[in-house]
Amino acid sequence: MNAQSNQPLALSFASDNIAGASKEVAQAMIRHSTGQASAYGTDELSLKVKLKLSEIFERDVEVFLVPTGTAANSLCLSAMTPPWGNIYCHPASHINNDECGAPEFFSNGAKLMTIDGPSAKLDVTRLRERTGEKVGDVHTTQPACVSITQATEVGSLYSLDEIAAIGEVCKASALGFHMDGSRFANALVALGCSPAQMTWKAGVDALSFGATKNGALAAEAIVLFNPTLATEMSYRRKRSGHLLSKMRFISAQIDAYLTDDLWLRNARQANTAAQRLARGLAGLRGVEVMAGAEANILFCKLDSAIIEALLKAGFGFYHDRWGPNIVRFVTSFATTAEDVDHLLSQVRQVIDTLSA
Ligand SMILES: *Cc1c(COP(=O)(O)O)cnc(C)c1O
Repeated sequence: MNAQSNQPLALSFASDNIAGASKEVAQAMIRHSTGQASAYGTDELSLKVKLKLSEIFERDVEVFLVPTGTAANSLCLSAMTPPWGNIYCHPASHINNDECGAPEFFSNGAKLMTIDGPSAKLDVTRLRERTGEKVGDVHTTQPACVSITQATEVGSLYSLDEIAAIGEVCKASALGFHMDGSRFANALVALGCSPAQMTWKAGVDALSFGATKNGALAAEAIVLFNPTLATEMSYRRKRSGHLLSKMRFISAQIDAYLTDDLWLRNARQANTAAQRLARGLAGLRGVEVMAGAEANILFCKLDSAIIEALLKAGFGFYHDRWGPNIVRFVTSFATTAEDVDHLLSQVRQVIDTLSA
């Protein structure tokens, strides 16, 4: 048992969406479940969320709440991309691999163009080259927008300079700039910068501000820094079936998420757990920690015998997807030091048994 939460120790490190929700978020939904509220996002709480996000981002922003990250991403991209447009992204990106073609579908057939680069970050020099190709050629789809993920799908981070450099490319070629911030808070607390610095000050036009993975039940905010996208977004959200009639329940989640810095506290907890895990694994026999856990995702290489023994002991994680013996551990807002120490003690036990 976990002394802190009175919960059984968490055995799965598969992803951050296997955790439930913060109690503040769950309680807010209950609290707002009685009484009447104006429908379709015209309620007071939805307005409050827009004002809160404007405060957090230090400027007026347009906010569109949706229940999934796929909807947030696809709606943002479709608002910036004509059907003949190119969306530049990293090959490892969620929009490229994990959204079942939703960005293409929502944009009526725009083309995803992948730009490689180390640590799941697209290379700005290649991006500059590619976005300059065949511009104005009626036979070829045309550059429309760039999408980056912060923190990335492998838990790495774009530095502020790297984001700004991509922003410059977008500005120079009049391309839209989207950020998939499914793990926005994890990146923010890791970089220690302001939300404004990580987004619009570096040229970002549209952000998928994630909350689900970091303590909400099902809530993501489309945050638009470019107000000219707002009118179109309002129709697109409704047309795609993402304008919830009882929007208060999404707003209640985001409101609680932003209250008393819950979103930042949750992200710190997740990141700290990943660092604890990385420190504990470093130097163990048969274990190679691959990159520093910059946010809340840790990759390492484990001997097959360790992987097998951990799985047998009931631990959950993805392995051998990214290469032989490569294991991914993801921590969340709900991961405690005890959860991490329990995993570490199992790893050490396995290693001891193997070498005995
Ligand atoms: C989880 C995730 C999303 C959102 O996924 P949904 O399942 O649609 O909510 C988007 N981008 C990244 C990088 C993710 O990890």
